[in-house]
Amino acid sequence: MKPAQHDLIYWGSVFSLMTAAITAYAQPVQRVIHISVDGLRPDAITALGPTNLPHFYRMRAEGAFTDNARSDYDYTVTLPNHVTQLTGRGVLGATGHGWTNNTDPAAGQTLTTNKGSYVAGVFDVAHDHGLKTGEFASKSKFSLFATSWNATNGQPDAIGPDNGRNKIDVYVNTSDTAALVRTLTNNVSTLLLDYTFLHLTDPDTVGHSSGWNVTPGSPYSDVIKTMDARLGMILDLIDGDPRFIGSTAVILTADHGGTGTDHSNATLREIYTVPFYVWGPGVMAGADLYVLNGTNRLNPGTNRPNYFASGQPVRNGEAANVALKLLGLEPVPGSTINADQNLALTIPLPELFFAFSPGINLALSFPTVSNVLYDIQSITNLNSISWDNLATNLVGNGGILTNLDASTAPNPARFYRLLLHF
Ligand SMILES: [Zn+2]
Repeated sequence: MKPAQHDLIYWGSVFSLMTAAITAYAQPVQRVIHISVDGLRPDAITALGPTNLPHFYRMRAEGAFTDNARSDYDYTVTLPNHVTQLTGRGVLGATGHGWTNNTDPAAGQTLTTNKGSYVAGVFDVAHDHGLKTGEFASKSKFSLFATSWNATNGQPDAIGPDNGRNKIDVYVNTSDTAALVRTLTNNVSTLLLDYTFLHLTDPDTVGHSSGWNVTPGSPYSDVIKTMDARLGMILDLIDGDPRFIGSTAVILTADHGGTGTDHSNATLREIYTVPFYVWGPGVMAGADLYVLNGTNRLNPGTNRPNYFASGQPVRNGEAANVALKLLGLEPVPGSTINADQNLALTIPLPELFFAFSPGINLALSFPTVSNVLYDIQSITNLNSISWDNLATNLVGNGGILTNLDASTAPNPARFYRLLLHF
C-alpha cells in the first residue's frame, strides 16, 4: 500500500544501477475476504463521501478501485450475479454458468445439475489447495452454494492431499447482517479462514421497499452508512490481529445497482454499474483500476459491453480469480472472466531507469504509465534520513520521461529513487 519505489545510484563518474525493486509485495496475501453488498450503487458511496463512509473511503484511499465496473451482461438479479462472482463465468452461453433462477433452489438442484456438467467455483480451488473457506450469506437462496459444493455434490479433490468434496468449511445464513458479520469475524479469527465470502443484503432490501435513491438522507443512502459500519467491523478485525494485518486482502463489489424500486432491467446504467474495490498488501494506494489496466481493460463510460467486445470492462465476475491470484492460486476451472488473472492491482516498476550526462549535469529517464504520477527524489548521503524532491507529480504519458538534475555538478555522489503514486 506504499508507493512503488525504484532506486538508482549515481556514484561520481561511475553508474551503479540498482534495478532490484523495493516493492510492497514483501508480505504475500494469506487471506482474502470477498464482500458483495447486494444492490450497492457506487454513486451512493460518492454522494455520501468520506465523512459518512470512512471505511469505504479507507478502501479507496489505500486500495485500487473503480466506480464503473459491470454486472453480468444479461442478468442483473442477485443469484445469477453471485454465481458469476464465485465462478468467474457469465450467465449465458456455452461457457456461462447457466444459473438464471433468482429464487430458492429446488430440492436437489445444484449448479451442476442445472448446467449438466460440473461448475467449479473459487471455493473449489481454495479448498482443494488445503485452504479453509467460509460462506456468510444473508438471503436463503444462497444455500445454492452450500449445496452445490457440499460433501455430496462437490467434485473430488484432485490437487495434492485429499481435502474432501465439501468445499465450504463454514456456512452461515441469516438476514441479520450485524449478527452475520460478528459470526464471520469470530470464525475468521478462531478457525483462521483463508477465503471468506460475505453477502450483505440490506441495501437491496431497502431499495426494493423505498427506492434506490442515492440522495443523502434517503432510506437507501442511510443503509449504505450501515454497510460502512459492517465493513468497519471487518477492517477492525484485520487491524486488531497481527495474524491478519498486512496479510489480508478485501475485495468489495456488488451484484447490481437499482433504480426506482427494481433492478431487473439489465440495460439500465443505474442497474448494471457496480463498484469494484480491492484493498490489501501489494495493492496500489488510491489507484484507479482502469489506469492500472490500460492495456487489459477498457473503461466502458456509460456503455454496457458484452463479453465479445474487444475492450472488456472491469466486472464483478473478476472477484473469484482476483481472490485466487492474491492467494497465489490458479484460476477457477472453466472461468472466462479474468481467467488469465491479469487484472493488475499495482503498477510494475519501470524495467529501466537511465542516468546519462548530457553535460555537467545528469539526466534521468524512465518509461511511464499514462496518468500515473512520478516523483524523483535524491540524496547525497545514504545515511541521511530525508530524501529531497527533485521533481514531484510528473504525469506519466505512456512514453519516456526525462528530468534533468541541475544540482549534480558539485556532488561527488548522488543517489536517486523513483516513486509512483496516484
Ligand atoms: Zn441483489
